[in-house]
Amino acid sequence: MSNARRLAPKAPRALPIALAGALAVLLGSIVPALDGAMEREAQPERVTQAIALPPPPAATAANTPRNDWQTVRIASGQTLGSVFADLGLPASTMHRVLEVPEASQMATRLRVGSELAFEIGADGELKGLRFDQDESKRVQLAVSEDAIEREVIERPMERRVVIAGGTIRSSLFADGAKAGLSAAVMNDMVKALQYDIDFAQDLREGDAFQIVYEELWREGERLRDGGVVAVNFINQGKPYTAVRFEHNGQQEFFDLDGRPLRKSFMRTPIEFARLSSGFGARRHPILGRMRMHKGVDYAAPTGTPIFAAGDARVKFAGWQNGYGRTVILDHGNGITTLYAHMSRLGSYRVGQRVQQGRTIGYVGTSGLSSGPHLHYEFRVNGVHRNPLTVTMPKPEPLTGTALAEYRRATAPALAQLKRIEGFQLAAR
Ligand SMILES: [Zn+2]
Repeated sequence: MSNARRLAPKAPRALPIALAGALAVLLGSIVPALDGAMEREAQPERVTQAIALPPPPAATAANTPRNDWQTVRIASGQTLGSVFADLGLPASTMHRVLEVPEASQMATRLRVGSELAFEIGADGELKGLRFDQDESKRVQLAVSEDAIEREVIERPMERRVVIAGGTIRSSLFADGAKAGLSAAVMNDMVKALQYDIDFAQDLREGDAFQIVYEELWREGERLRDGGVVAVNFINQGKPYTAVRFEHNGQQEFFDLDGRPLRKSFMRTPIEFARLSSGFGARRHPILGRMRMHKGVDYAAPTGTPIFAAGDARVKFAGWQNGYGRTVILDHGNGITTLYAHMSRLGSYRVGQRVQQGRTIGYVGTSGLSSGPHLHYEFRVNGVHRNPLTVTMPKPEPLTGTALAEYRRATAPALAQLKRIEGFQLAAR
């Protein structure tokens, strides 16, 4: 059967230019959001938008005999000093400009591609300078002989919520691009669902997804995508729903019942590694005797990052006999994890808090070890358990007022998803 074909996601990459045409392939087509101020029709055209600074001199020269505005886009190797020099402006003028706090801030943030607009008088002197302070603020300087006046122009950003969806035909990112979704949005979706769906193994042709996400607009122009608000993914016939909600100051994804999708523990605290030795009795590879193997081993090249399996406090970081360079994390509730034979410890010190997924060290072969690998132990109340089979504690669901607030805040996004005909949300 063709639907048994295995589809691997491709690495995120730049989207093809001709997205506008590809939008026709959209499953549900982009529909405007329902909630509040977002009722305007979402524009299907997607234009890569450069910062709209003043029009180039050619466009205005004909009917404006006054001063010319020149837009300069910073090229590789260019500095503010070299730009001033190229325009025939003296360094003393630049130093006057740099006394304006916004200008000196701009100078330190100047990057390749940054744009500046210079107004230069017939006498060759600088009369004005315009630049963007950030996405929503533009600064304009009026330069005269004795003073520099500064004006900050607010350019309010607007968040629009849109929904798009697609069906997996070739690869996750290609089909996302066909649906008009950027790699950033697709990555966000993968992150939201990574604990439920193994995107490297589980995808099948015919899987379908709907994503409610934000777009950031300014002055009628689409700037870029914001984050994913909600997603529904049908994987091998089974629906998975993730809804974003801010809880304890952090944006997290929850299922329909308000249970966090993020698990308390990662099953495998290392990426791209092969399980080379399981848990239990075995002949020790170096000592040659039968011994209990109190953890699991993952073979991986020296230097491969090792992750904290769950949120924790660092209990130990240093050298232990046999284990070599070792980190022990205390996760509370009597659970500790141990990571041994590192080539190098991470930057966390004893007593520090570390978040799940942060790098705490790097694979090596220090201590009593036959080759580069991670030796990983999971202990509950001091007793070694098999990390591959131990029942991991479930994260706490939202309750009480937090749950009520979650239901209220996420209702519009869920209504969006429910509008898609024939699309079922995960009911758990
Ligand atoms: Zn081991």
